[in-house]
Amino acid sequence: MTVGVVGAGISGLTVVHELENRGADVLAYEARDEPGGVMRSRHVDGRVVELGPQRLRLTPGIDSLIDDLGLRDQLRFGDDDQPLYLYYDGELRVVPLSVREALTTNLLSLRGKLRILKEPFTDPARPGETVDEFLVRKFGPQAARRFFGPLYSGLYGTETQEMPMQYSLGRVLEKRGIDGSILLWIVRKLLSGSETPPVCTFDDGLGELPRRLYEAHADSIALETPVTQIRNCEHEEGFELVTENDAAVVDDVVLTTPAGTSADLLESVDSGLAATLDRFNYNPIAIVFLESAFDREGIGTLVPSTEPSQISGLTWNASFLDRDRVFTCYIDPGRYPDLIDASDDELAAVATTEFERITGADATPLDVHVWTPGMPAYDRSWTAMDDLELPDGIHLCANYVGRAGIPGRIRNGTRLADTLAGGK
Ligand SMILES: Cc1cc2nc3c(=O)[nH]c(=O)nc-3n(C[C@H](O)[C@H](O)[C@H](O)COP(=O)(O)OP(=O)(O)OC[C@H]3O[C@@H](n4cnc5c(N)ncnc54)[C@H](O)[C@@H]3O)c2cc1C
Repeated sequence: MTVGVVGAGISGLTVVHELENRGADVLAYEARDEPGGVMRSRHVDGRVVELGPQRLRLTPGIDSLIDDLGLRDQLRFGDDDQPLYLYYDGELRVVPLSVREALTTNLLSLRGKLRILKEPFTDPARPGETVDEFLVRKFGPQAARRFFGPLYSGLYGTETQEMPMQYSLGRVLEKRGIDGSILLWIVRKLLSGSETPPVCTFDDGLGELPRRLYEAHADSIALETPVTQIRNCEHEEGFELVTENDAAVVDDVVLTTPAGTSADLLESVDSGLAATLDRFNYNPIAIVFLESAFDREGIGTLVPSTEPSQISGLTWNASFLDRDRVFTCYIDPGRYPDLIDASDDELAAVATTEFERITGADATPLDVHVWTPGMPAYDRSWTAMDDLELPDGIHLCANYVGRAGIPGRIRNGTRLADTLAGGK
């Protein structure tokens, strides 16, 4: 059996790695001249910056991958005991992520804090509810809109009012086995002493993980080779993966590309499936790297959309990942509608001005990167999930149908490889 994999981001690389470990034949294609997809790092003026994810959780799956790839000596841990801040009403306020922070934060009034305690007496998610409606009903409007909402939706660039529970937060809760009170689940977790895996990265950035995965399987992965079409084989079962100079025959195809790209590639295999895939919305996101001597301890800043600001958040890489004076600023089209047409200089100016207003410290832009299509929006367009029917032999292993985080991507890829290799 030969499996064709489209895309060598962390999902595609995991599928290749796990299939080859199980003895299957794999042909993988990556459009760019480097592996990693959105998981990419750069050196700018001697500093490491992350174009996509800034850090990951060292889950058992990632821990053993690090050993497989000989990356242990590059591993560096982040300090996520540091506070996370939210910029509210012109001030940086601590997001209550621990009991101590919940008691001391000035983000919520006493009434707002007490309202959270009613959560165990509220109903689980109701059909048709949005994330905003759910969180307000569970935790009260203050906690829901001041931090639970921004905490959840921050990176996706979608307002919680536009996110149906069923296709977004509801799936996260379901996967964690939370069907009753969220608060009691947290308390039980704290009492059980089970620890959240630590936050980590690598000396040269997260991009090291996909780079090492690629090196371990370079013989099976063609870089700078975009797949232009997938079609059914004419006289036998299976598919042809068409590239500029070739057409490879495979038994199964794994697509790790964004939904719109997958739609274009699958048009001739199944035009109905292509139309369904085309319905998923994405939000572009701009990342601006800043240098600043701002030396407060913290993980970062969430900026809720209720604040008159043009950015949606900051990661304080300097503090919690010990990256020399580096800060990462996020801009989404909800805050800055001209994002897609803006020049790098304009985006850098927006980020610098907002950083200086929020922290009170000077900053200098280091670099800018804009992601399109960007992040899956998990908005109302996700009703397309209900119509997603895949022909035999076509598999989607991508963040819009599973969990977006890197541990989730690695779990999905491993599970799919298990299924495919089991069917050898
Ligand atoms: C700004 C940002 C910050 C994030 N922060 C975090 C974080 O802190 N922690 C965390 O866990 N997760 C984070 N995530 C989410 C996580 O990084 C992504 O969900 C994950 O990396 C996606 O990996 P993937 O392999 O599924 O997709 P991608 O990385 O998108 O890979 C798809 C690959 O397919 C290739 N491709 C496209 N078209 C073709 C074609 N026609 N032929 C061949 N190849 C093609 C692309 O070049 C790409 O390499 C973040 C994401 C973003 C965008």
